[in-house]
Amino acid sequence: MKSTTGRQEAISAVINYKPLVNALDLEGKSTQTLYGTNVFSDKVMREKLEKPVYKALKRTIERGEKLDSSVADAVASAMKLWALEKGATHFTHVFFPLTSLTAEKHDSFFEPDGEGGTIAQFAGSALIQGEPDASSFPSGGIRSTFEARGYTAWDVTSPAYIYENPNGNTLCIPTAFLSWTGEALDHKTPLLRSMQALNTQATRVLKMLGYDDFGMVTATAGPEQEYFLVDRNFFFARPDLLNAGRTLFGAKPPKGQEFEDHYFGAIPERVLSFMMELEHELYKQGIPIKTRHNEVAPGQFEIAPIYESANLGHDHQHMIMLMIQRMATKYGMAGLLHEKPFAGINGSGKHVNWSLGCKLGNLLDPGESPHENTRFLIFCLATIRAVHLYSTLLRAAVASAGNDHRLGANEAPPAIMSIFLGEQLEDVFNQLKSGAASSSKMRGTLTIGVDTLPVLPKDAGDRNRTSPFAFTGNRFEFRAVGSNQSIAWPLVVMNCIVADSLDFVATEVEKEMAGDKTKLNAAIQKVLQGIASEHSAVVFGGNGYSDEWHAEAATRGLPNLKNTLDALPALNTPENVAVLGKYNVLSPREVESRYEIWMEKYIRDLNTEGMLTREMAQTMILPAALSYQGQLATLATQLKALGKTANTDLLDKLIALTDALQSGLATLDAALSHETEGESMDHALHYRDAVLPAMNAVRESADALEGLVSDELWPLPTYQEMLFVK
Ligand code: ADP
Ligand code: MG
Repeated sequence: MKSTTGRQEAISAVINYKPLVNALDLEGKSTQTLYGTNVFSDKVMREKLEKPVYKALKRTIERGEKLDSSVADAVASAMKLWALEKGATHFTHVFFPLTSLTAEKHDSFFEPDGEGGTIAQFAGSALIQGEPDASSFPSGGIRSTFEARGYTAWDVTSPAYIYENPNGNTLCIPTAFLSWTGEALDHKTPLLRSMQALNTQATRVLKMLGYDDFGMVTATAGPEQEYFLVDRNFFFARPDLLNAGRTLFGAKPPKGQEFEDHYFGAIPERVLSFMMELEHELYKQGIPIKTRHNEVAPGQFEIAPIYESANLGHDHQHMIMLMIQRMATKYGMAGLLHEKPFAGINGSGKHVNWSLGCKLGNLLDPGESPHENTRFLIFCLATIRAVHLYSTLLRAAVASAGNDHRLGANEAPPAIMSIFLGEQLEDVFNQLKSGAASSSKMRGTLTIGVDTLPVLPKDAGDRNRTSPFAFTGNRFEFRAVGSNQSIAWPLVVMNCIVADSLDFVATEVEKEMAGDKTKLNAAIQKVLQGIASEHSAVVFGGNGYSDEWHAEAATRGLPNLKNTLDALPALNTPENVAVLGKYNVLSPREVESRYEIWMEKYIRDLNTEGMLTREMAQTMILPAALSYQGQLATLATQLKALGKTANTDLLDKLIALTDALQSGLATLDAALSHETEGESMDHALHYRDAVLPAMNAVRESADALEGLVSDELWPLPTYQEMLFVK
């Protein structure tokens, strides 16, 4: 019998693909009737809770007032009844440990009633607090395993929801995760703290400007998630995708993304079905999905919701990532969230759109004439100051082994943190630098030249895709965030450093006025002028991919922290530790623990990749190369026996490449078995400077072999197959 490679089996399975699921029955299930049906929403609470209980709960949600235990009991009881009606049998506290994955531990509602039956129980205390065994979550030394207590605490500001499974439903309660000593072990706790800090400082500024009825100031977030889809048969035939989330081998396909025919192209049928059902499920959870489209690379797509409060946006973003993967499986595909699943093909990012909002509206909305909009200018310039002063902290917030393949690789923003303001705002900014701003360039209209087409209003500035931090009309868009990352940490940093800048503005203006209210405008003018002249180095509207920019950024004193190990130490600098501590976002110990966790993660990621590279090269690629060599050698011998001359060019090339592969493997093997003493940084540097180059060398020989070895023998699905077969 002819033996087949996993790759050939995968190809025939893909060719014979039949939809695994029946088309969705959308009868009577419009978005409008479905939206939020699985959420214990404000509407449900108003219906199910007694008025005083509802009011007390709202005071906690909206004003952060303490929650009474009798209120918690009443809410728990209503929540339980609602969940049981929805078919739930279990409840879980959902939390967000520093693995950046979602964690949950399910408990049944049902307990024996002592008379041979069961009774559904759910007390206020079980709603408010849970105690998962915390010992196996990363704590970066905050807590040793013998003192493993960790608590989950109900986040009243993020509504509970039902998670459906064909075999039963679960009530999910979003929670914060803390150690026994009250230290944050998760992403949500600092996010909530940073939002509180931002609210406090923004409130000060708004009061100073004379506003009083504006409610809470909330950070808002709208994350755009990029991801790849590949057929599951290919996924399982690639140990690297399966275990590391990215391909460690693979020659560049003859047809890459240079045709630019994928971006915004027609969405393949199977993918569109997947997207529709994904959105359908997300709607039920009250996640306002708005946008779907093909991305730049073949096989790459994007999903984006409408923005929400940063906390809710964060929780929903986790759900989106989880559901992409679950739904992909249902449609016979694998959802790849890694920042760089395929070398030479665009990677995936997660643009995080960020702003501040309150009853007055979006505080970063410039209006028609930004130069006169003092409120806008304060918030905008505060952000510019923050990004300039704390650029290393922002850079550290997006550092990971995966994102290292993306940042600075001429497809994603460079690792240099700068701000794109657009033509109109940059002009206002420059005016401010030299005194008062007196004009705003107007929007204008676009003339298309076809009478039947409408005249379109033109934006005040063009887009710039090369900037890591861009003002996009009424918000800032942080584009350096990795696709696989939790958005919490970048949001925490944003909120905290902007809180610091707003604090600075309020304090400086108060000082300038010295109690004399009539001096308000002059004082603001002076403070803004100071910010504009001191922080103009961070404003850059040109091409962020160009070499000239890298040189200029250096003369402007902007740091260029090229990879994770250059970036993470920023977590230890006194200014960065101080700003996180000053606003009670993270204590020095909590920052230190995060540094350790992310260093360890870097080491683990590279170790996994190194071992996989070794294993795949040794057990899949080398055998294929040797067996082809065997075929060619046999042929040459046979030809010689017949008195013919054998052309051994190919054989010679193969031998040379196989030798290179084997010596590369020996180097990798040595690098992987090297024991490093000392700090985590020493270990990590060894992985960056010895293991990674050794992996790349092995890959280089292997990819060259892919172009020579008989297609029949090649064991791994190729880039071409994975990216173009739909
Ligand atoms: P683009 O691809 O042009 O950047 P998208 O429409 O794909 O834009 O995504 C823009 C994201 O920005 C959406 O999630 C949108 O809701 C979000 N957004 C819009 N306004 C705000 C705001 N005030 N605060 C935070 N995010 C916002
Ligand atoms: Mg987009």
